[in-house]
Amino acid sequence: MISTHQLRKSFGEREVLQGIDIEIQQGQVAVLIGPSGCGKSTLLRCLNLLEQPSAGEIEIAGNRLAFTPTTKLPERRKAEFRSKTGMVFQNFNLFPHMTVLQNVASGPYLNGLKSKAEAHETANRLLQRVGLTDKADLYPSQISGGQAQRVAIARALALDPQVMLFDEPTSALDPELVGEVLEVMQGLAQDGTTMIVVTHEMGFARNVASKVIFMEGGVVVETGVPNEVLRQPQTDRLRSFLSRVEH
Ligand code: ADP
Ligand code: MG
Repeated sequence: MISTHQLRKSFGEREVLQGIDIEIQQGQVAVLIGPSGCGKSTLLRCLNLLEQPSAGEIEIAGNRLAFTPTTKLPERRKAEFRSKTGMVFQNFNLFPHMTVLQNVASGPYLNGLKSKAEAHETANRLLQRVGLTDKADLYPSQISGGQAQRVAIARALALDPQVMLFDEPTSALDPELVGEVLEVMQGLAQDGTTMIVVTHEMGFARNVASKVIFMEGGVVVETGVPNEVLRQPQTDRLRSFLSRVEH
């Protein structure tokens, strides 16, 4: 469903992604772990074309893009490719001047994918799915961080992506609000949503992930099923990382 081949990204002289090969099948949940600064966010941002890779290939749902340092993609092609992924950020990034319902409905409506009525119908269904039907008419400032993140998830789902990308979705939350967001994500996983999740929540990795990918210094160091990767790390680098995070 989503794969990369020798994906590279440099910022100036610094190569932050140094040839990443990953492969995630339809319906799989990949949890991406690794120390701060190892390139996790950059990888997700490349998959979503928020950053343009310097080299290598990305394939999502049969659609393949190859990059060189001078690749210049037409905006239309970028938008088309970007629409295959839904991204959820650490800080929610909701539109403050829109209600919860408008936040979720605006994407498909503005993209011309749906009429206003259809977009609202979809938004109501998605708010139900994340358990926020009663918050539809509130503004982001009037809800909790956990609720805001669930709205952000609904908003990403509204565009009907093939793959959901989560970049530390619970890192900005008070500890008591983490569970409700993980629960929604677990629900998506159970419904067969293909997901890549950057998180330090090792419980989520153990219980929900089909695959764990450990990155360090811009390369994938280990990858495999959670039981093996988290219980029997093969490298000192992963052993050392795991001993530093709670699990
Ligand atoms: P992680 O998400 O694993 O913590 P990032 O992907 O955010 O790591 O960052 C990897 C490295 O790339 C870091 O050293 C960071 O400073 C650098 N980096 C990320 N984005 C940019 C950018 N836009 N310009 C320059 N350097 C960047
Ligand atoms: Mg990051």
